[in-house]
Amino acid sequence: WKHAPAHFRVLLENSRWHGDKVFLVYEDEHITFEDHYRRAATLATRLADDYGVRKGDRVAVAMRNYPEWSIAFSAALAAGAVAVPLNAWWTEPELAYGVSDSGAKVIIADDERAPRLAGTGVPLIVARGAAPEGARTFDEVLGEVRADVTLPEVELSPDDPATIFYTSGTTGRPKGALGSHRNLGQSPMTVAYGLYRASALAGKDPGEATAVRRVTLLTVPLFHVTGCFSALTTTLFSGGGLVLMYKWDPGQALKLIEREKVSAMIGVPTNAWQLMSHPDFAKHDLSSLNTLGYGGAPAPPRLLERITENLPARAASNGYGMTETTALAIGNGGADYQAHPDSIGRPSPVVDVRVVDPMNNELPPGEVGELCVRGPNVILGYWNKPEATAETFVGGWLHTGDLAKIDEDGFVYIVDRAKDMVIRGGENVYCAEVEAALFEHPAVDDVAVIGVPHDELGEEVGAVIRLAAGVPATGEELRAFLDGRIAAFKVPRHFWFREGELPRNPGGKILKTHLRREVLGA
Ligand code: ATP
Ligand code: MG
Repeated sequence: WKHAPAHFRVLLENSRWHGDKVFLVYEDEHITFEDHYRRAATLATRLADDYGVRKGDRVAVAMRNYPEWSIAFSAALAAGAVAVPLNAWWTEPELAYGVSDSGAKVIIADDERAPRLAGTGVPLIVARGAAPEGARTFDEVLGEVRADVTLPEVELSPDDPATIFYTSGTTGRPKGALGSHRNLGQSPMTVAYGLYRASALAGKDPGEATAVRRVTLLTVPLFHVTGCFSALTTTLFSGGGLVLMYKWDPGQALKLIEREKVSAMIGVPTNAWQLMSHPDFAKHDLSSLNTLGYGGAPAPPRLLERITENLPARAASNGYGMTETTALAIGNGGADYQAHPDSIGRPSPVVDVRVVDPMNNELPPGEVGELCVRGPNVILGYWNKPEATAETFVGGWLHTGDLAKIDEDGFVYIVDRAKDMVIRGGENVYCAEVEAALFEHPAVDDVAVIGVPHDELGEEVGAVIRLAAGVPATGEELRAFLDGRIAAFKVPRHFWFREGELPRNPGGKILKTHLRREVLGA
């Protein structure tokens, strides 16, 4: 390629083919493909001319899910820069870490984050609201938005870096995942194909499934790969529309599905769960909704049962992916999912998987080991972290840190995170398995299983439970319920009942370190 990266070329083509169609919806704002293209192209030239952004420079984006997020992201790519989405939930020191770790040359932020970033000394463009002293607003920087923009001259190849997304930080400090233009360009292949496969497997006419213009509701942040790739770039590449939310709110989601005639909801498993639990669920017309896609965190089999009961004839799919796999790598949908509700499904057609022992020997079907992934979606490595890169990317395979098994038919089962296992007197207890068993109980609305220090056994199993409204249960009852469902040594000895939601990060993962501190004081 010589000039614009694939992402941007598609933006241009979409603005030519159906420029007046709505690409992004945020509250009552509707941004067309043409408007998005013009603003992104203009911003790309301003980044180059006013801020000296050149190929390979980092441009940080720190925003909630506003349309400007997408404009800033696209502009950074078109300028040949590496787009660095920063976690909008981060505190000031965390944001400062993201800025200094990535070495950002300029930051494009919203007005909530701008004051928290002012101390970094890096030039700041403020996309929404007022700019603090010394910063410029988006509109000031854009100036006149023209149709005939000449993009900056950059020579890019598919293996050049395009993005640095930070991992969720579940197992330590977030790592910058350096993704290439090739990674980005293939994401619609894995995601759109995954959704297509799920609807074909749900018995829908494959022609119909692809011909309908999809309107997607995004329930998770754009600064993680699910939001950016499973929703934003996939929508862009398929000419659909994307409905954005400031933050997840099931009541608001129900209204938006009805108002915008949303066809697909993309997010984490808890979003689908909470949508169906909302008191207004039955009051809304959800007939447009044909697809529920979720992933990023374990999806209990009970979730699929609830979808089948409450939203029949919808294609539900559970996708497994990591920041390091540019979102989706393995997915389960339709009839496959009904037959194997506890599996994350089969690898995307462009992805290879295998399970290895600690010596890196491939294990036969059915045996539990570390899941490894290979394919055009696997990133280049970690930014600035040669040691972590060497440990994680071995001989072309990404070591996921997840324990899994693969059956004879190629279905993959995540057993647990290698770091989220309770070892009770030498026996491995997989938290995810105990959580899934507890979810079967009608009183359990949410659950996290944790290890509790024990003098003799090393660790005991504990469960923090949020009860469903109006359904009481005691630890004794839950223990009796698990008896016979899972082996006795896996049954939690300690139960904590918690008011309110369990703390989760924006990727839908329960913050177990916080919970442990809360209930154990450690
Ligand atoms: P860090 O790498 O910083 O510790 P993280 O691994 O949580 O954080 P992400 O890249 O956002 O950061 O998450 C990837 C992880 O999420 C996977 O390794 C896996 O443990 C989990 N995961 C993703 N999708 C699924 C799924 N469908 N089912 C179960 N677990 C999933
Ligand atoms: Mg990880």
